[in-house]
Parts: sequence; C-alpha cells; structure tokens
Amino acid sequence: MRADLHVHSNASDGTDPPAEVMRRAAQAGLDVVALTDHDTVAGHAQARQALPAPLILVPGMELSSRLDGPNHGDQHSVHLLAYLFDPGDPGLAAETRRIRDDRILRARAMVDRLVDLGVPITWDDVAAIAGSAVVGRPHIARAMAASGAIASPDQAFTPDWIADGGRAYVSRYALDPVRAIALVRSAGGVAVLAHPRADRALMVSDSQIAGLAAAGLAGVEVFHPDQPESEQASLLSLTRDLGLIATGGSDDHGSLTGHRIGSHTAAPGAYEALLSQATGTKPVQGG
Ligand SMILES: [Zn+2]
Ligand SMILES: [Zn+2]
Repeated sequence: MRADLHVHSNASDGTDPPAEVMRRAAQAGLDVVALTDHDTVAGHAQARQALPAPLILVPGMELSSRLDGPNHGDQHSVHLLAYLFDPGDPGLAAETRRIRDDRILRARAMVDRLVDLGVPITWDDVAAIAGSAVVGRPHIARAMAASGAIASPDQAFTPDWIADGGRAYVSRYALDPVRAIALVRSAGGVAVLAHPRADRALMVSDSQIAGLAAAGLAGVEVFHPDQPESEQASLLSLTRDLGLIATGGSDDHGSLTGHRIGSHTAAPGAYEALLSQATGTKPVQGG
C-alpha cells in the first residue's frame, strides 16, 4: 500500500480544490491518500464525491497546537495530524471552530501591522485570495507579492515580515498538544505528530515525543520532504523504541509546493495500524 497521509487542498492553504487533489493522488499511483487541511474538514465532502476507484481516502485534519519549550516563555508550534475521528464530535468541532475564528482575528492583526509598516494591502485583498479557505499566512504573503511589496510570496516569511517572531507576526490561540491528542482520541480518531524535525521552529525533541506518546499519540510523521534523511532515520528508530506508528506524507499544497503529492509515503503497515486504532469513522473507498 502506498499511502500519502498528509495533503492539503484549497479548503485550507493548498491551491487545488479537493476533487483535483484526489485526481492527482490517483495519477501519482497512490493506494491511500489522507486529506489533512488545517483545522477544517470542509474539503472532505468534495473529496469523497470525486474519489476515483480504487483510491482510498482517509478523512483527516492538521491541528495547530503549541508546546512549551525548556526555557520559560519559550513556545513553539506543534502540528498534529488527526485521522478517522468522528467529524460530528462536539468537543473537537468546538475547538476547531475556535481555532478558525482566531485565525481570522490574527490575520487581520497581521494585515494592520503590515499596513503600519507601509505595505499597501487591505484585509479585502487577503480575504479575496483566501476565498472560502481557512485564512492563513500564505494568503497574506500572496497579497503582499501582488501589491509589489515583495517579489514573491516566500519572501514574506522572513523576520522583516511575517515569519515567526517577525515584525508583523502575530501569534495565535493554539491548543496544548496533550489536550489536542485527548480531543482526537475522544472523537474516536488517531493522532500523529506532524514533521517534528522539518525546521527549527517546529522542532520536537525525543523526550517531548515520548511525553506525547504517553499522552496517547499514535504515531510520528517520519517521512516528510522537509525532514533530512538523517532525521528520518533517527525518528524511525525512536518510533520503534516507543511503539509508535511511522507515517509519512508529502504535505502537498498544490502549486505552492510544486505538486509533490506521493513524494513521501508512510512505512509499510502504517495505514493498517492507524485503521486498527480508529473508531470515529471509516476510510472511504473510491468508485
Ligand atoms: Zn504542518
Ligand atoms: Zn501540512
């Protein structure tokens, strides 16, 4: 089974509609694909409808959470992939609604700061780019590029602008990962730590991973395009030590990441292992 367990659509910050993402997943020769938009399940219905046989869709979501670091006041983002939870679970739904509402307040605050810094964009520009998607920094970055303030959207992610801690950066409400894991589990889902070694801002240590495992984490995303192979090898042995599932995914965001769907996949048996722990909902068979 080739399973890419981490892809985004334009229901969050990807560029392609869910139907197109499913078509590309099939074209890439995948057996299984998980749609994991940020803090929303809004893309699932369209993905389900458009799902070509024999592709299997795993309904999922990428949840933003925040972990306290070893130094006082030191916090960083931790992304959790949630799979096969009951989408109607009131606890999880209320929490994702809160995260989405806060994203809008935060995006508006970043636009205000950018305007103060002389960047000629408006909230309406950003909202128009986001469309019906959950608004995020990539949409602001695209508005900045369209305004001519920067040459391309990736230049927005620097300390001058909206990188973590940047001049126009505004932090946001985020769940504690232990609480997020508990919410996913009580909704019948399984929680997997996303890309813990993808970059410094998202770094999660071995001991922090062990702590999350004790809190009910089911797996770790070992195979990810932004994780160096040496880190993948060390994560793989850590998952073995801790009895966790070694998953993987492309984190495809459509044209934003060069349509890399299928570039990275889960370890053999990982999909089946996730399935065996989930009770919230079932995977969807295409056709
Ligand atoms: Zn992520
Ligand atoms: Zn992602």
